[in-house]
Amino acid sequence: MNQTPHVALLPSPGMGHLIPFIELAKQLVLHHHFSVTILIPAAPPTQAQKTVLQTLPKTIHHIFLPPVQLPNDPLSAAFQIFLTVTLSLPSIKHTLASLSTTTRLVSLIVDQFGIDAIDVAKEFGVSPYLFFPSSAMSLLFCLHLPKIDETVMGEYRDLPEPIQFPGCVPVHGRDLSEPFQDRSNKAYKGLIDSFKRYGRAEGIIVNSFVDMEEGAIKGLFVDELGKPPIYPVGPLIRTGLSDGSEWPECLQWLDDQPSGLVVFVSFGSGGTLSHDQLNELALGLELSGQRFLWVVRNPSDNSSAAFFNAHNQNDPISFLPKGFLERTQGRGLVVPSWAPQIEVLSHHATGGFLTHCGWNSTLESTVHGVPLIAWPLFAEQKMNAVMLTEGLKVALSPKSHELGLVGREEIAEVVKSLMEGEEGKKVRQRMEGLKDAAAKVLSEEGSSTKSLSDLAFKWKNQNNI
Ligand code: UDP
Repeated sequence: MNQTPHVALLPSPGMGHLIPFIELAKQLVLHHHFSVTILIPAAPPTQAQKTVLQTLPKTIHHIFLPPVQLPNDPLSAAFQIFLTVTLSLPSIKHTLASLSTTTRLVSLIVDQFGIDAIDVAKEFGVSPYLFFPSSAMSLLFCLHLPKIDETVMGEYRDLPEPIQFPGCVPVHGRDLSEPFQDRSNKAYKGLIDSFKRYGRAEGIIVNSFVDMEEGAIKGLFVDELGKPPIYPVGPLIRTGLSDGSEWPECLQWLDDQPSGLVVFVSFGSGGTLSHDQLNELALGLELSGQRFLWVVRNPSDNSSAAFFNAHNQNDPISFLPKGFLERTQGRGLVVPSWAPQIEVLSHHATGGFLTHCGWNSTLESTVHGVPLIAWPLFAEQKMNAVMLTEGLKVALSPKSHELGLVGREEIAEVVKSLMEGEEGKKVRQRMEGLKDAAAKVLSEEGSSTKSLSDLAFKWKNQNNI
């Protein structure tokens, strides 16, 4: 048997989960000389998955687990993800059985929705760890929610006061993700039950860093019964830029724009807007007079409609208002479905990011010092948006009117304000400060580098249980 320590990673479905797991794998292979296998649920692979997996070093293997049959009931994206991993348990077990006989398997690292796999790791005498790819504040919520569930009556959205942890921004119940809006729901019960089992992991790795979330990280370090050690290793964001050949138009267009004057507009790997909202956004961008690069998807009333198939869109451009492309030609570019986000955020022309506040997008923007307009859609994005606008103050936030729609004038105003207003200047300066802090924690002596080294040391020196 090869004596190189081997780690198995189990991200749950969705690019927002796969990308940080790949970066964690790269760190373990390149800096700590592990070999890694990534187990990917929910085959067949999407185009976006194939593209990122193509760039992996040879010491990172990946296996697509067989597809599973989800029930026909309408499910929230979070619960769909959670069930996919649970239904994949037999194939996860099969893969671990094989890895544990052919490699020196030291750890299985599962995602926040893969907690059921922890017991499988234990069966094979492998140390189970949890990698939480979202914010430290979300993790703090997950760890405390079982207790809150026992003490709070009624729906969280009806609570008169926001929920607050020391050092964190207060968050209203209505800003928690969808499964927490209806406590009688199966998804709610399933998630609370999974949070109670976080303590079964030997440690929790979180993709964040102290300068970004000082209060939440302090909160996570409070020694409480049943809580495993916490390892903040962030910001882990996608590295290894593509050569741009796949995206010639979009990057070439950026090359021709002046420095810092383009606002990038994108809602993550699967966020979608309603038809009316898409219309208002288009007209708002037009009215702002600013330069923009916009990733457009087919409209839908379900904001996570494209989460599992962002590339399977017919013709999103046809949903734009009549004459919009002609009227904005030269100062705006629209890209259907997907753009090379890291390449765009690191481009000199990009000066702002209108984002759905997914955690990867948030970290990617932070590492590149790009200030934000926060436009959360689903999952924990509203909580992230509150942290970014009210806590860190690195984002501006457009207001919606009574019907929940953000109007074109408001959009134009907030885009102008970020790109050329006084408020935008302040937000930009703060983001520059966070960018420097992010570089520091990832330097040789930085806290995130040290956290991961501690873990690697532990895994290399342990005898399997
Ligand atoms: N992404 C990309 N191009 C796109 C949309 C998304 O490269 O057009 C990447 C983005 O850089 C990020 C991930 O997909 O790494 C999205 O993760 P995030 O946590 O921001 O949001 P989610 O997709 O999970 O809602």
